[in-house]
Amino acid sequence: MTEEKPAILWFRQDLRLADNPALQVAAKHPFFAVYIWDEQDPWPPGGASRWWLYKSLNSLKQSLQERRIQLIFRKGNPLHVLKALAQETKACGIYWNRCYELYAINRDKEIKSSFKNEGIPCQSFNGSLLVEPWEIQTKTKGPYQVFTPFWKTLQNLSFPKPNPIPDLQGWKTPVSSEVLEEWGLSPTLWGQGLEEAWQPGEKGALERLNHFLEEGAQAYARKRDYPSENGTSRLSPYLHWGELSPIQIWHQASRIHGAEALPFLRQLGWREFSYHLLYHFPELPSKPLRSSFDRFPWEVDGDTLKAWQTGQTGYPLVDAGMRELWHTGSMHNRVRMVVASFLVKHLLLPWQKGEEWFWDTLVDADLANNAISWQWVAGCGADAAPYFRIFNPSLQSQKFDSEGTYIKQWIPELQALDSPYIHSPWQAPIEVLERAGIKLGTTYPFPIVDHDFARKRALEALRAL
Ligand SMILES: Cc1cc2nc3c(=O)[nH]c(=O)nc-3n(C[C@H](O)[C@H](O)[C@H](O)COP(=O)(O)OP(=O)(O)OC[C@H]3O[C@@H](n4cnc5c(N)ncnc54)[C@H](O)[C@@H]3O)c2cc1C
Repeated sequence: MTEEKPAILWFRQDLRLADNPALQVAAKHPFFAVYIWDEQDPWPPGGASRWWLYKSLNSLKQSLQERRIQLIFRKGNPLHVLKALAQETKACGIYWNRCYELYAINRDKEIKSSFKNEGIPCQSFNGSLLVEPWEIQTKTKGPYQVFTPFWKTLQNLSFPKPNPIPDLQGWKTPVSSEVLEEWGLSPTLWGQGLEEAWQPGEKGALERLNHFLEEGAQAYARKRDYPSENGTSRLSPYLHWGELSPIQIWHQASRIHGAEALPFLRQLGWREFSYHLLYHFPELPSKPLRSSFDRFPWEVDGDTLKAWQTGQTGYPLVDAGMRELWHTGSMHNRVRMVVASFLVKHLLLPWQKGEEWFWDTLVDADLANNAISWQWVAGCGADAAPYFRIFNPSLQSQKFDSEGTYIKQWIPELQALDSPYIHSPWQAPIEVLERAGIKLGTTYPFPIVDHDFARKRALEALRAL
């Protein structure tokens, strides 16, 4: 007897088995799964993301193998890859969960119409958002551009319950696969620090969620702004790669914590808002939403960019954040805001330079969240920070890392310096520095730019816009 024709499940940013709508439908047939390295993607994963992807695909492959499902790997143009696979296997249908980047939307449309002509059904689903970006609108039927009303609307919707993993039946005929290890995704320069900080994959995601909901969620509102506290969920890379769905998080957090979960769920609201904006304003990753910013007199200075990237600006909170990023592939949100403001407003470097660096070094690098956050800080995006908000890095550090605990964790050269000087070492008396074993300009840099000067310069340039 010949085997029933298979369905193809195309994994993309939904690397999980639970609450996976495309998997639910593919599983009505015997099926096999494919991950395609898209060689045309204009935003291919950066270094830290490639490391994550490699680990996550290995973990997914193992979970599928335990259920006798093949996960195969192919590189190339997804349309060509899927065509070849459909031809090789006489597939009866192709299923995936949607992505919302302009390139992905156009690519997927082309794939759908091409298979439609061949009579092979292709179906896509919402596997990564609480609500599709086109499903909610302002009263005037346009996209939201301000977060608070968007959140009010979102909060009042009800979302479907997450689906458990269905019974799965693998297609038995072997399908040829490239070898994941030969794709060169891992290890990167970062390997060791990332290994210590993260456990990519669906199992790691669920463990992280459970741990946060049991141990951290109650104190979230109180602790979330303090980088030395373990106060946030650290779920962002799992959400980006779809190892966990926002629906799973929403329901589990609400069931356990009720209304107390709202400050945390509100952050998921920011994620939804970012996707909403990216969908409606697809040029956001490269172009400012406020076009007047095209005329901004950015400085393009390789030395200051390098100092920022390597955590050598002389401002301890900025340097601690940039070093945390390099070491762990992540950075606390409060510190992301401070380092981003510093790049744009103190150094007058284009926000896209910061966005690119984050794209390469963050394990949670996400086109929507990254672009919208950078534009928000730069003041050129939707609902952006007002132009005159220029963080003073020393005051931010006094406020959110008063004892310098976070700074000392990432800047060993400043270990022996205490508050208040830990926030601005250049203001410390020489004998204090000597006692702490610090020689400014040698063991730790002088500030690369003076705060008052930089603030004035930025305000003048911004006001002129
Ligand atoms: C300049 C800059 C760049 C950023 N780049 C990214 C990025 O590439 N990828 C990314 O996921 N986040 C980005 N963020 C947003 C935010 O810093 C991270 O989502 C957050 O630090 C992740 O930590 P967490 O999972 O512990 O967050 P929690 O505080 O526990 O929040 C829960 C979830 O909500 C979402 N979330 C939280 N804050 C935001 C936000 N401001 N905007 C959108 N979603 C949010 C994340 O998915 C997060 O996992 C950026 C912020 C700034 C200021």
